[in-house]
Amino acid sequence: MQPITVLVTGANRGIGLELVRQIVARQNPPKHVFATCRDPDRAKDLQALAKDTPSIEIVKLDVTDYATLRNTVVPHVQSKVGDLGLNLLINNAGLLLRHDLSTVTPEAMREVYEVNTIAPVMITQAFLPLLKAASARATGGLSCSRAAVINITSKVGSCADNQSGKHYPYRCSKAALNIATVSMSVDLKGDGILAAVLHPGWVKTQMGGSNAIHELSDSVKGMLDVMDRLTENETGKFFEWKGNEIPW
Ligand code: NDP
Repeated sequence: MQPITVLVTGANRGIGLELVRQIVARQNPPKHVFATCRDPDRAKDLQALAKDTPSIEIVKLDVTDYATLRNTVVPHVQSKVGDLGLNLLINNAGLLLRHDLSTVTPEAMREVYEVNTIAPVMITQAFLPLLKAASARATGGLSCSRAAVINITSKVGSCADNQSGKHYPYRCSKAALNIATVSMSVDLKGDGILAAVLHPGWVKTQMGGSNAIHELSDSVKGMLDVMDRLTENETGKFFEWKGNEIPW
């Protein structure tokens, strides 16, 4: 894939930061990479990367702040990309609160759903005009070069895979993100916009913890390889980082 414009949420650490790092290091890198995070002043690793890479712009965004999203972030990105629109939106920011049936609270369910489900839907809605603009410039089939929404999900949100229970807030939020992505794929296909969910594997990040089995760089490389291969045949599907399809 060769998107010209990309936006990644939760880009200050973990998978989001590594996505930005690897995307700008690719051959024919994008002209604009918007790396959003809640607190740019504290995003030291991202700042260091952006200092050496003029195509990266750090944008302040709490993904649950929908007013700032609409009134500030989208108009700013629009002003920078102009007619190019936005080729690739990666909704990566995520929250894991660990709760089983005995500890789960309404507050925990809502908080995780807000970040993992509502925010990616609202961000996609807000950037839709820019995704459509990017798509309209291109010919050919669906791809992550033309216009795409990639939602970073988890296998933990797969009903078919759930053999160990627990994790009520996180499982429910990712299962809901999955079905929202299927709806996006149906609703946006006619506009030439692809939508898919990717599972990064169990990755060594703050969320994945030190027992995680996959290296950050391998997971992100794998997911970018999968994005390279996505076409209209894969829109609306659920893949893990090595490219295998995951049952819903
Ligand atoms: P980390 O916990 O390392 O990073 C989470 C990122 O999300 C941080 O940048 C964090 O920002 C950001 N974030 C959380 N809430 C908000 C918010 N309200 N607004 C803006 N940003 C926010 O997690 P990973 O990098 O591991 O996870 C990235 C994605 O991958 C998530 O969607 C996660 O569910 C998914 N995933 C990860 C797995 C793993 O094993 N690591 C496995 C399966 C899925 P801040 O620093 O400000 O908190």
